[in-house]
Amino acid sequence: MPGHTASAGIAGVACDSPRRAIFGPTIGGENVARTACWGIAGDVMKRTVVVAEDDEAIRELIIHHLACEGFDGVGAPDGLSAIRKVREGCDLIVLDLGLPGIDGFEVARRAREIRAGLPILILSARSGEIDRLLGFELGIDDFVAKPFSPRELVARVRAILRRHGLDAELPVDRVLRFGDLEIDVAAREVRMYGLDLACKPREFALLLELARNPGVAIARERLIDRVWGAAFVGDERTVDVHVSRLRARLEGHAPLRSTLRSVHGFGYKFVPP
Ligand code: CA
Repeated sequence: MPGHTASAGIAGVACDSPRRAIFGPTIGGENVARTACWGIAGDVMKRTVVVAEDDEAIRELIIHHLACEGFDGVGAPDGLSAIRKVREGCDLIVLDLGLPGIDGFEVARRAREIRAGLPILILSARSGEIDRLLGFELGIDDFVAKPFSPRELVARVRAILRRHGLDAELPVDRVLRFGDLEIDVAAREVRMYGLDLACKPREFALLLELARNPGVAIARERLIDRVWGAAFVGDERTVDVHVSRLRARLEGHAPLRSTLRSVHGFGYKFVPP
């Protein structure tokens, strides 16, 4: 598949992972790829990695390499936006220590307050910070000194996630089961008592994104990003509309009535039936 790297956003950086091609275009075929190499914005099976780095070139380079390896990289140019991204939901944070505003140590502290045990990989130019890190009571998962190899960094991200029991992506053939409710990722079907609920592609993607994180409130903004893609232009009410349609489908099945809960002023969460 030699054509996939032709429009690479970063000159000279080629995606060497053609296996991504097996997933094809995003759900509904409407999304513009976020990055040159199969940045399938609507691919609901990716793990999200927040890249907190103020140097735009480095940030984009890391995001690009993450995308090539099947991760969904989300950039944050400063400490506050990093914390906001963590709050919206992520699986790991790549954290530069020298960030404008609040520094990496403070970001790490607050991120762990938001989510205890969130995997953190520290990125730093200053070797003097290593000593501080060693004494850092929160504990970090790994440390990469600048200058660094993006490939090695992504390999370490993968290793950390594996240690935490999180693979880069959910197996494509996985079926999520919640009692009599089945979400069949391979067939893209939602079934109740074995009967297909005939969900539309976006509805399916939305339900899957929520059901992948049972009991976790997910921000509308993140749902848009994951289901419609970063290129989506429109209103967050789109999420509400799709949730209403999903609820209508689930309505006929009493045990499912309260599986999609609204979280006031924030988003939605999936509560297993
Ligand atoms: Ca920096």
